[in-house]
Amino acid sequence: MEKKHKTGIVWYRRDLRVRDHFGLLAVEENCAEQLPVYFLSSWKAAHNWTGANRQQFLCDSLASLDGNLRVFGGRLLIRAEPVLEGIKRLIEQSGATYFCYQKDPDPFGHGIEADVDQLCRSLGVEVYAYHDVSLHAPEEVLTGGGLPYRVYTPYSKQWLMKEKPQRLKNVTALHTPADLSTEEIPCIGHWNLSHPAPQRLLGGEKAARERMKKAVAEIVTNYKDRRDLPAEQGTSRLSQDLRWGLISIRELYARVLQAELALPPSQREGCLTYRKELAWREFYFAILRFFPEVLEWEFSAQWRGLPWEHNEAHWQAWCSGNTGFPIVDAGMRELLATGHMHNRVRMIVAMFLTKDLHIDWRHGESWFMRHLIDGEIASNNGGWQWSAGTGADAAPYFRIQNPWSQTQRFDPKGIYIKRWLPELAHLPAEKFYEAPTNGLPLAKGYPFPIVDHRTERDRTLAIFKVHKASTS
Ligand SMILES: Cc1cc2nc3c(=O)[nH]c(=O)nc-3n(C[C@H](O)[C@H](O)[C@H](O)COP(=O)(O)OP(=O)(O)OC[C@H]3O[C@@H](n4cnc5c(N)ncnc54)[C@H](O)[C@@H]3O)c2cc1C
Repeated sequence: MEKKHKTGIVWYRRDLRVRDHFGLLAVEENCAEQLPVYFLSSWKAAHNWTGANRQQFLCDSLASLDGNLRVFGGRLLIRAEPVLEGIKRLIEQSGATYFCYQKDPDPFGHGIEADVDQLCRSLGVEVYAYHDVSLHAPEEVLTGGGLPYRVYTPYSKQWLMKEKPQRLKNVTALHTPADLSTEEIPCIGHWNLSHPAPQRLLGGEKAARERMKKAVAEIVTNYKDRRDLPAEQGTSRLSQDLRWGLISIRELYARVLQAELALPPSQREGCLTYRKELAWREFYFAILRFFPEVLEWEFSAQWRGLPWEHNEAHWQAWCSGNTGFPIVDAGMRELLATGHMHNRVRMIVAMFLTKDLHIDWRHGESWFMRHLIDGEIASNNGGWQWSAGTGADAAPYFRIQNPWSQTQRFDPKGIYIKRWLPELAHLPAEKFYEAPTNGLPLAKGYPFPIVDHRTERDRTLAIFKVHKASTS
């Protein structure tokens, strides 16, 4: 059948897969030749919000994408130039008359889209931009009055009830002309970043799909009971795959729902809880979309201007996992070693930074973005503001987690702590349930707690109370 366009471009951004891909399917259906392209940015070398782990994961995923496209007869063009110039040049070189891309959920990526649309229009190129980072675009889940939700529970109720988009069929045959120039698939050196974490996950669609299948088969059914236990493999470990679009959210959701419906009703709680976590992800996308000021300010206006403190020694101790609080240090060392941290521990370390060390959540947010493979601007900001008590539907400021009792509750045998702090491996787990009372560190070479939790908790309560009184 005659195709409408001779040549079409699919601009890959954070959707690095071939399966269930709107853009790829659209260029296959509408164009005789397909040009999948990825533009390498140079700004990431200097930016605070990305680091070696994310970029290495990106490199692995681009290499995998190229290989997967080749299976269908295509290939990935890599171009190292500013996006607008690069798109213009590629359109002129190829004579493309069709251009499609996935809309980006964060203000930085989203910001360029109007210019891309304008450029294409000025060159007479048809544009197709689609939303599929999440199941529902922020504008699709609003209050009865048409306003954005500020609280998670009513948002998630509506989100869960909405009909979900179905998976798309896969492409069958692509044709990418051989005469168009491309850069090498990048390696980490492209950005001049330091070495990535030694134990990071493998990128690419194949590895991500294996993780997804394993999660659906082995994790989601018992998710509710095991997700808070960092020593266990109780969570899906799919956040980086969703961040880079190595799996489609449509497919993941459909697989979880299918697994849920195959269970007797009394055993469906785990899958439902899992689906609700996916709703948190979309809630934070919506918060970022409607309240982009959260990247600079506290979501809740009453907490703007809180008097944060900065003690450099405390900051360094937190970053390197040397605070003397084993659960905090285990989390921070897991992050450095793997580019990941368990969600329960993310909450503990974030609350510790903001409520025990009184350090501004923005510093923690930035540190996480530099080290997490799954660094997602919306979820990261949401998680940090939740922990600081300043965010949308955040933990109230007076609910301050105690790192010692959190350990007793969520890592009672100290397995997670010992995994990341080998210097404490010989100690009984009860030693991690409260601060040492003999004035000595828990082990040789391990620091004494840098602060007293009770004292700092009281200080935080006083600081927040005074601030509240001064702004109300
Ligand atoms: C301070 C802080 C920072 C965070 N930063 C990020 C981040 O940069 N990127 C990121 O993807 N998540 C972030 N989270 C949320 C959460 O910690 C991770 O999504 C989760 O640990 C990823 O592991 P998993 O895939 O095994 O999650 P699972 O427990 O298996 O959850 C399944 C999926 O649901 C989503 N999800 C789960 N919990 C949350 C949540 N609280 N908020 C938003 N989405 C959620 C994720 O996409 C996740 O992959 C942060 C949380 C906190 C407290």
